[in-house]
Amino acid sequence: MQSRFRVEVSKDYLVFASAHFITFRGHQCESLHGHNYRVGVTVEGDVDAECLFVLDFSVLKRIVRALADEIDHKVLLTTENPKLAFRSDGEMLHVDYFGKPTYVFPRSDCALLPIQNSTAEMLAQYLALRPTRSQRTKRARRWV
Ligand SMILES: [Zn+2]
Repeated sequence: MQSRFRVEVSKDYLVFASAHFITFRGHQCESLHGHNYRVGVTVEGDVDAECLFVLDFSVLKRIVRALADEIDHKVLLTTENPKLAFRSDGEMLHVDYFGKPTYVFPRSDCALLPIQNSTAEMLAQYLALRPTRSQRTKRARRWV
């Protein structure tokens, strides 16, 4: 018997705290500020015939926690935003907004995300599509 389920998970262990700023239409840009983000995950699928769950929550926790840890306590910088440019200077990263020097951060405190803007929508899409480190390693091994 196949049974299709939709399971939504949002737990305290699926959180991260990060700084960011959003660019708006034209030349408007938010000031740098931070949030405590909470990641929610929806899993949909058939129930495993033997285990009777859609997905082992311990696996889900491990995957999402690893993704959140990558950007926890970081400044989220969006590399696909045409209004921003980045310059490395040793261990520092300079952020220019429309060519104007705007911020300087220690490189190790930054998470460079390949998205256009760090809106909640784009962060959710980034997290949903980003493979975990172990998935990237397994995928690479498959092609060797
Ligand atoms: Zn914000």
